[in-house]
Amino acid sequence: MVSSADILSAKILVVDDQEAHVELIKGMLRVAGYTSVESTTDPNEVCELYRKNRYSLILLDLQMPGMDGFQVMEGLKGIEATGYLPVLVTTAQRDHKLRALEAGAKDFVSKPFDQAELRARVHNILEVRLLNLETKNYSKALEETVRKLERSNMDLERFAFAASHDLQEPLRMITNYSQLLIEGHRGRLDSEAELCVDFITKGAKQMLDLLANLLTYTEAGADSWEPNEFIDLNAIFEKVKQKLKLAIEESGAVVSSGNLPTVLGHDARFVQLFQNLISNAIKYRGKQSPRIHVSAEYRHAEWRFAVTDNGIGINPEDFLTIFGVFKRLHGSAIPGTGIGLAICRRVVERYGGRIWVESTLGQGTTFYFTLPGSAGNS
Ligand code: ADP
Repeated sequence: MVSSADILSAKILVVDDQEAHVELIKGMLRVAGYTSVESTTDPNEVCELYRKNRYSLILLDLQMPGMDGFQVMEGLKGIEATGYLPVLVTTAQRDHKLRALEAGAKDFVSKPFDQAELRARVHNILEVRLLNLETKNYSKALEETVRKLERSNMDLERFAFAASHDLQEPLRMITNYSQLLIEGHRGRLDSEAELCVDFITKGAKQMLDLLANLLTYTEAGADSWEPNEFIDLNAIFEKVKQKLKLAIEESGAVVSSGNLPTVLGHDARFVQLFQNLISNAIKYRGKQSPRIHVSAEYRHAEWRFAVTDNGIGINPEDFLTIFGVFKRLHGSAIPGTGIGLAICRRVVERYGGRIWVESTLGQGTTFYFTLPGSAGNS
């Protein structure tokens, strides 16, 4: 907010070829409390003075010998990149007022001066000008912050990508050599040593899964990735069911779907999305066999999908946090890396959609997500 102290200390330039007018205006401004008022009687000096001092307001006489106020305004326009003229013209001629406003002046004060009018107009014009500058500074600072965040985000993405990619190789070595150790020394290792190697293998395997998911997560956010083909989501659903065949059979799950649309996107990303949601619905099942249904509805120019299960449910206070990376609500009893839903969110958001959850503990969960509908989609 602009305070009255800011307004009273704003830089003002008074331009009038008549010394008496200059002194009169300066006197009025001084009485009103303005503390930073300069003046000149030479219109040729104005542009140079403005370039140096960037006044918040110029009180400009229009009729001056040699160079009139209109010419001064033309000169000022060349200095202000935005074309904004912080000019209040002072004139005795009625027809000059409109012309001055059309030439870019922000307001006018009539001669002979009226103290109250001058004070009100100077105050108003300064308030608007300072607010305008303040907004500009805020948006500049905001842009800079956004740029910095984008840069650091990109750095983090690159780091996560490189780390998850490069760490896979040494981990594979650990699992392979642990395997070799067990197989090559079968019967020769005591049970405690075998247990230790088993822990090493399991730990490394878990980390490999985590890195693979992290890699998928960073890839899903890669800039180069654009929706490029029409994908029949019925086919994706069948593909995912096939991939999850074992888990479906083991859990006795019934996985069904309504008619799903064809949307613009990328085959592998939709497989990830549906696979993560359906496999979670199987993983976080309750006492009864899982019943999972996938449906889609076209409303308000977008597709709204729902993946509904009858599983253990989610506490409402976790509805938002579960979409964060590494966020898990259940301990190691149920395997997972805590990245699945973060990947789903990334995929959906990259396509311009939203994802959210509704759930009742002990009864089941529905994950909703939207994808923009377009003329090509059906
Ligand atoms: P995870 O690898 O742990 O499954 P996700 O990111 O896929 O990671 O899910 C985050 C957490 O959200 C899970 O740990 C689980 O607690 C909860 N969750 C996800 N889907 C369901 C679901 N269908 N029913 C109940 N809880 C779920």
